[in-house]
Amino acid sequence: MATAHKAAASRGGDGLPSHHLDDAFLLDYAAGNTSEAVSLLIATHLALCPECRARAEELEALGGAMLESLAPTAVDHDALSAVLARLDASDEVEPAVLTLPANDEGQVPSIPMPLRGYLKAEPDALAWQPVIRGLEEYELDVGGAKTKLLRIKPGASMPQHTHEGRELTLVLEGSYDDEIGHFGRGDVAILDDDHDHRPIAGPGQDCICLTVIDAPLRLTGRFGRFLNPFVKF
Ligand SMILES: [Zn+2]
Repeated sequence: MATAHKAAASRGGDGLPSHHLDDAFLLDYAAGNTSEAVSLLIATHLALCPECRARAEELEALGGAMLESLAPTAVDHDALSAVLARLDASDEVEPAVLTLPANDEGQVPSIPMPLRGYLKAEPDALAWQPVIRGLEEYELDVGGAKTKLLRIKPGASMPQHTHEGRELTLVLEGSYDDEIGHFGRGDVAILDDDHDHRPIAGPGQDCICLTVIDAPLRLTGRFGRFLNPFVKF
């Protein structure tokens, strides 16, 4: 699974995300083939990312056009093939609901819709559960996968771990760095068992992330085995 958009390295510094969702995710989302949990993460990224929002709308329009014509002639493009495969594979294709940023005063709130709709309170007032020093979590009731908010103190690190399955992370506030790069607000990281990483939160403010985890993490660091029972992802 790709971890970052090709354009990632060339941008940044403008407050917009620099780590994006790839077309495979956007297509699955547009075709209604992602779980509620993954859909929530994707829709929340779209609320923060004009680039992926535009791309998702493009792909959705493409899917709509395919549905209408079902005349896949002269189509030789991975994205189009994927759309067609999806259309072939399912009898019923639900149109994606593309979420635009909440636009109260031209500002996207720290927790944008649709994620905001899943929380019962502002981040500060949530019933955070301590996990290890510097790391707290808040579990969300979302179908399809383990879904949590993580809050990491500035400068704190998470135990080194790898993944049995897939971990999607979306940064909502603050930032973190790991072996892959720097992740700030709106950035998405998609990790699987090829990756062994140890995220460290940036300075100055808590790092709050939304994570969706399809399968348990396998801790690999020095204290991994000791911590494993306490980090019940
Ligand atoms: Zn994006």
